[in-house]
Amino acid sequence: MTSKWDLSFLYKGFDDPKIDEDLNQAKEIADDLEKYRGKIKTGDLSSKELLELFQQDEKVQTLVSKAEGYGALLFYQETTNEDHKALYAKMQQQSVDIENKLIWIILELNELDEELLQKYLQDPLLANYHHYIIVKRLSKPYLLSEPVEQVLSQKSLVGRDAWLKFYQEFTAAFEFEVEIKGDLKKMSPGEIYPLFRDPNPEIREKVFKAYYQKYADESIAINHCFNNIWKNHGQDVNLRKYPTIMTPAHIRNQTDEKIVQTMMDIIKKNYSLVQEYYKTKAKLMGQGNKIKGSDLYAPLGKAIKYTWEEAKHMVLEAYTEFDSEIGEMAKQFFDHNLIDSEVRKTKRFGAFCMGIAPGIDPLIQMSFDGTSDGVSTLAHEMGHGLHDVFSGRKQTLFNYNPPLVAAETASVFGEQILIDKLLMTMTDEKAKLKILTSQLEDAIVTISRQTMYVFWENESHEKGAKENLSSKQMSDIWDKHVRDTYGDAVDFLPEQSWNWATIPHFLDPRVFYCYAYSFGMLFVLGLYQKYLEEGNAFIPKYKRILEAGGSQFPVDLAASVGLDITQPDFWQAGFDYLQKLLKEFQAIVEKRT
Ligand SMILES: [Zn+2]
Repeated sequence: MTSKWDLSFLYKGFDDPKIDEDLNQAKEIADDLEKYRGKIKTGDLSSKELLELFQQDEKVQTLVSKAEGYGALLFYQETTNEDHKALYAKMQQQSVDIENKLIWIILELNELDEELLQKYLQDPLLANYHHYIIVKRLSKPYLLSEPVEQVLSQKSLVGRDAWLKFYQEFTAAFEFEVEIKGDLKKMSPGEIYPLFRDPNPEIREKVFKAYYQKYADESIAINHCFNNIWKNHGQDVNLRKYPTIMTPAHIRNQTDEKIVQTMMDIIKKNYSLVQEYYKTKAKLMGQGNKIKGSDLYAPLGKAIKYTWEEAKHMVLEAYTEFDSEIGEMAKQFFDHNLIDSEVRKTKRFGAFCMGIAPGIDPLIQMSFDGTSDGVSTLAHEMGHGLHDVFSGRKQTLFNYNPPLVAAETASVFGEQILIDKLLMTMTDEKAKLKILTSQLEDAIVTISRQTMYVFWENESHEKGAKENLSSKQMSDIWDKHVRDTYGDAVDFLPEQSWNWATIPHFLDPRVFYCYAYSFGMLFVLGLYQKYLEEGNAFIPKYKRILEAGGSQFPVDLAASVGLDITQPDFWQAGFDYLQKLLKEFQAIVEKRT
C-alpha cells in the first residue's frame, strides 16, 4: 500500500467555481493597485501605502499560486487527463496575465533613487520587506536603458535562447546505437541513461562509448552552440560592465565572489576524497587501484526492499528521534494525505515537494519503488515539506522561499539523519555498502564534480570570449580539470573527453549554474557536522534557519546561528563528515578484499 493525495482542502475538483472566483478576486485587487502606479519612483507613496501595496501584492500572488498550484498538482497526478491538462494550461496563462499586471512594482522599485530608497528602508513599518526590496534591486547597477533592454530581450529569442533551444531539440532526438547480446539496438536518451548503472560491466562500457561518440560525431553543430553562447555571455559582461564573468551567478544566488572562491578552493583541496573513494571502489571491484571510466557509477552492495509502511515508520522514527516537534510535523503529512507515493504510469516523472504559500499545506509527490533510495527520497522530500512549514509560520509570501543555494537545507539534512540512523543500526554489510557508496557518490557528483564543471566553464569562457574554441580545445581543457579532480584513480575512456558536450547546464541562460549545487549540499553538510559536534544544542538554531525562509542572505542566515561561511573552516566541516563516511566504506572494503 502506498498513499495518494487528498487535494480537497485546495478545491473540490477541476470544475470547482471557486477557482475562477479566486482568480477574479486576484484580478480585482491587482487592478485596484493601479492607483499607486507611478508613485513609488517619485516617493509620493507613504510607507503605510507601500506596505499595503506589498501586502495586497502578496495576496494576489497567493491566490494565483493556489489556483495554478492546484492545476499543476492535478496534472502531475494524471498527466493524461485532458480536463486536468486544460485546467493547468489555463491556470498558467491566467497567472502570467495577472502577474504582468503587477510587474510595474518591481520596475518602479528599481527606478527609486538612493535617497528615497533609504527613506523606505529605514522605516520600521516596512521591516518585513527590506530584504525583498534589496534583492529585487541587486541587478540594478548592471541594467541598461529601457530601450536597450527591450532590444536585447527581443534579440535573445533568436540569439542565446535560440542556440539553447536548438541544442535541446537536436540532442533530444539523438539515437544511440549499442550492440547488446548480438542485437544492434537504437536507443533514445531516456533509454540509454539507466544503462550507465547497469550491473553488467560490458554493457556499461558499450553504453559509455556509444553515448559520448554520438556527441563527438555531431561536434560541428554542438561546437557552434557552445561558442555562440560563450560569446553572448562575453558581450553581456562587457555591455553591462559586470566585474567578473561569474557576477550574474552570484547575484542570482545571493552570494559573492569571495565566498564562492573560498568554497571552491576547499572543494579543490578535497579532491583527494574523490580519488581515495574511487581507488577503494576499484579495489572492491578487483581492478587494482584504478577504476575504469565506465565503472564510475557501477552499482555495488545489496539492495534491500522496504514496504511503504516500513519506509514511513523509518522516516518518522528518524525525524522524531532528532526532535519530537519535527517528528510530529512530519506525521501530519501522512495524517492529512499530503503525499502521493503510488507508482503509476501516468504520473509526472521524478519527486518533488510543492510549497504553495504560507498557510497552505505543502504537497509531496514521488513514486515509491521499495528501494533504500526510495526511503531516502521520502526523507528528502519530507525535509522540503518541513522547511516550507517552518518558513510559513514566520514569513509572508515574499520571504517564504529560501534562496536557491539554501533550498536543499532541510531535504539533505533530513536524508543525513535517516542515513546515519540506518548505518548505525544495520548489521548486513552488503546493504551498508550500498548505502555508503550511494551517499559518497551522490556527494562527489553534487559537490566535487559540479565544481569541476565550474572550473572548466570558467577557463573555457575566458578563452572562448576572445576566440572561437575548437572542440579539441574544449576537450583538452576538460581533460585537464578531470585529471585535477580524479587524479590517477580513474582510467577514463578516450570518448569521455567529450563529456562537456553532453551537459545542457552549460548552455543555460543561468551561466555558472552548477556551483549552486555544490554550495547547497556542502552548506548542509557543514550544518550537519555542526549538529554532530554540538548535539541537541544545535536543534533550536537549525529551526531558526528553517523559519527564516527567504528573509536573509545565505551569509546572514548562517551568521544568525554563529556560523561564518566566509571562512574555509565552515566548508571543510562538510568534508570532515564525508571523510567519516569514506573511512567506514574503506573499513568494510578492507575486510572483504
Ligand atoms: Zn531537493
